[in-house]
Amino acid sequence: MSSLLKSIFDRNPGESEFHQAVEEVYETVEKVIKKNPQYQKAKIFERMTEPERLISFRVTWVDDKGDVQVNKGYRVQMNSAIGPYKGGLRFHPSVNPSILKFLAFEQIFKNALTGLPMGGGKGGSDFNPKGKSDGEVMRFCQAFMSELSKHIGHRLDVPAGDIGVGGREIGYMFGAYKKMQNEFTGVLTGKGQGWGGSLIRPEATGYGLVYFAQNMLAEQNDSLNGKTCLVSGSGNVAQFAMKKLLILGAKPVTASDSSGYIYDEDGISSEKLDFIMELKNEKRGRISEYADKFKSAKFFANDTKSDHNPMWAIKADCAFPCATQNEINIKDAKNLIAGGVKLLAEGANMPTMSDAIVELLKAGVNYAPGKASNAGGVATSGLEMVQNYSGIYWTREEVDTRLREIMKGIHDSCLQASKEYGMDGNYQAGANIAGFVKVANAMVAQGII
Ligand code: NDP
Repeated sequence: MSSLLKSIFDRNPGESEFHQAVEEVYETVEKVIKKNPQYQKAKIFERMTEPERLISFRVTWVDDKGDVQVNKGYRVQMNSAIGPYKGGLRFHPSVNPSILKFLAFEQIFKNALTGLPMGGGKGGSDFNPKGKSDGEVMRFCQAFMSELSKHIGHRLDVPAGDIGVGGREIGYMFGAYKKMQNEFTGVLTGKGQGWGGSLIRPEATGYGLVYFAQNMLAEQNDSLNGKTCLVSGSGNVAQFAMKKLLILGAKPVTASDSSGYIYDEDGISSEKLDFIMELKNEKRGRISEYADKFKSAKFFANDTKSDHNPMWAIKADCAFPCATQNEINIKDAKNLIAGGVKLLAEGANMPTMSDAIVELLKAGVNYAPGKASNAGGVATSGLEMVQNYSGIYWTREEVDTRLREIMKGIHDSCLQASKEYGMDGNYQAGANIAGFVKVANAMVAQGII
């Protein structure tokens, strides 16, 4: 390991997810740093891996029984070289500084790739919305915002949703912010229609992911039409990825949640997808209920003792991991290759472990890293900010056209950067390099701050 990486790891002990994300980027940008003495002199990589600010706070709220609950709240303001901090809020019991720092670090490059002026940030809480009443979620969101509101602003830091934070939570947090600050600004994105939200924002990450895959296949004169696809997750990203896959003639056959996965050999049709959307978004049910309803499907519960996820061993052409980090290990990667998968595009952030990525690339799988292929969500959040600033709102078609263009732009800049540095066709290297160079140049220009 290089002494630079070692010093970063030593400064952030025990933060395994953060180390993983930093190492993955460093391995591909090391060449660029070595070629550019100004980056070394200004210690750009060392500065990029240290948050500009990390806010940690207590969130106290009262549950339905009248008991006081205490949670941890965070905001990581990672890098503001090219614009206000931007990145989602995650509510999940696993949330800790390591996970948020890895996500905020990834966000720097992702946001740069979109071509929009957004810095990198991420935040959240170890609060678990699962099983909580609407009233409890609202009181938690209000308590969380009572502190977060002191650190964000529409020209300073604009959070959005992520795991466990959807339209409902954004609504409660926006309401709380507006009441406390006494002003109506676009301080959060992912807002609802009619109160500052952009059309296509809910769809954007999943749609953008599939547009990205479409561009990758077009490079090889191929298309998604008729392709069998493995999708993990059943939340926002997975739902709209499946929707767009269906529109483009592909056949999604799996979906999952934290309890297990369903396999529907006949394909998840749009009627079946409607069932998933209602189940997950309104009833807040479990994916196993899909197999109770549709006899063509089977549910497989998670086996925590297994060293692999059998879902990734199902025969298919493409894979779209859309649940969470580190859901594909090396064994899963080998199974994907053996099952015939030729393209893997990440909807989630860092769903593929580092050694699994190496395995996929070695086998010639067309691999797209999340920081490029899932950037459609934050890009459309950027478009929501533009609409909020101007007060003029675009039609579905206008936003969708811009999203398509942005995804094509990201795709092309990944390929171009990979070519420039002798790693032609490697989207992983291309995404890291293109994002890094843009932010590094801005940091050099702004001096030692
Ligand atoms: P949702 O909360 O809407 O859905 C998350 C899905 O993943 C659910 O099906 C959930 O199952 C499953 N999941 C979550 N944690 C785990 C776990 N530890 N093990 C197994 N399954 C799990 O989140 P999103 O769809 O918004 O986010 C999914 C991924 O996409 C995340 O990595 C996120 O960072 C990334 N992403 C999201 C963007 C967005 O715009 N929303 C933008 C870019 C990236 P269960 O219901 O059981 O918890």
